[in-house]
Amino acid sequence: MARYSPSVQNLIAKLGSLPGIGGKSAQRLAFHILSMPEKEASELADAIKEAHRLNKRCSSCRNFTDSDPCPICSDPKRDRSIICVVESPRDVSTFERMHEYRGLYHVLHGVFDPSRSKGMNDITLAELFERLSKSPEVREVIMATNPTAEGNATALYVSRLLTGSGIRVSRLASGLPMGGDIEYTDDLTLASALKGRVDISS
Ligand SMILES: [Zn+2]
Repeated sequence: MARYSPSVQNLIAKLGSLPGIGGKSAQRLAFHILSMPEKEASELADAIKEAHRLNKRCSSCRNFTDSDPCPICSDPKRDRSIICVVESPRDVSTFERMHEYRGLYHVLHGVFDPSRSKGMNDITLAELFERLSKSPEVREVIMATNPTAEGNATALYVSRLLTGSGIRVSRLASGLPMGGDIEYTDDLTLASALKGRVDISS
């Protein structure tokens, strides 16, 4: 498999480790990058380094941000009694785009997925419970994990752990396609799923 020089093989391996990039795409991207003018290739590398250096996780909601707390957590106009729990920072953008939701968020950075050995410590659940224990103003947690087996299991787990806490736990209404992805849900469907959310407090 030593068809390419070690530096090119390394680039292909790094690109191939990104989600959704298979071996063929990694090779195509690597050769595209090699054919770029050197200045453009450096700008691409710098953009990755700069975004990484400046973006940390918000100490409250765990979303990526270049200021801590993030602009949403520090906005005095947000409703601090509701926290919408999502899988990824992309889901926060989807909700914000809809302009229907005025509460806060919590980004899990994944869901329980025993098949991919993603356990409780790999997502920010402990941080969520710690945050809730310090936030008596929270009345409701909306579990907006994706409507997949793993997303549902994570939602049920949170509702079980919050039993007796006085915090209502709700789940986005059906209407979201089973196995679907919130990121790709249109604004109207998402707004009605939010409005019709159901209580899953146990
Ligand atoms: Zn935040």
